[in-house]
Amino acid sequence: MKAIQIAIDGPASSGKSTVAKIIAKNLGYTYLDTGAMYRCATYLALKNDLTAQDVSSLLSELAAHPISFGKAADGSQKVFLGDCDVTLAIRQHDVTNNVSWVSALPEIRAELVAQQQRIATKGGIVMDGRDIGTVVLPRAELKIFLIASVEERALRRFKENQEKGIPTDLETLKEEIATRDFKDSNRKVSPLKAADDAITFDTTGVSIDEVVAFISEKANEILDK
Ligand code: C5P
Repeated sequence: MKAIQIAIDGPASSGKSTVAKIIAKNLGYTYLDTGAMYRCATYLALKNDLTAQDVSSLLSELAAHPISFGKAADGSQKVFLGDCDVTLAIRQHDVTNNVSWVSALPEIRAELVAQQQRIATKGGIVMDGRDIGTVVLPRAELKIFLIASVEERALRRFKENQEKGIPTDLETLKEEIATRDFKDSNRKVSPLKAADDAITFDTTGVSIDEVVAFISEKANEILDK
């Protein structure tokens, strides 16, 4: 059967990973959370007290502790650095608030993009991130760019954090999301932006099921061609 590449990009907490996971599961495709990979690089930078001047050390750390994904008993995704489970550690505040400078380093992007492109050669894939439609999978058959208001995205992340037991303040979250959007959209290398051929979908006030239905319909149109 024909297998396609689906690129889902958008700002922080726009619902990308939630819908990408469901769509990948429904189609029997691989799901790749590229944000988790930049978070892993950030975790390694912080753990080793590295700065933007220590790119070669950070690349060595990434080579020594390869990023991989696994499944927990409840079906949720696990993230590993070498054989160390960093699923929760990469969602902590210090990682979230430092990820933008790490993800702006061209050498780190080149390495992670190469890894992402290798994973995509293995068959049908749903990948979410910031530069998937523009840089990682420029020939993806379906490109979606999800947006939502800062208020709604902060509230979503607040609820997610509560479920994960990560203490957060809603106002601080709003500021952090707006700051991260600004940095991700204004960096020199691969800034967050919709590909020219992407379909932009505003998920403010729209349920996850509706977003999934919209993207699935588009995917099915391509698969039925
Ligand atoms: O998706 P998530 O919020 O976990 O991504 C964390 C950060 O990783 C983003 O704020 C961005 O700086 C970076 N990122 C990126 N390119 C991607 C995915 C994420 O620069 N493809």
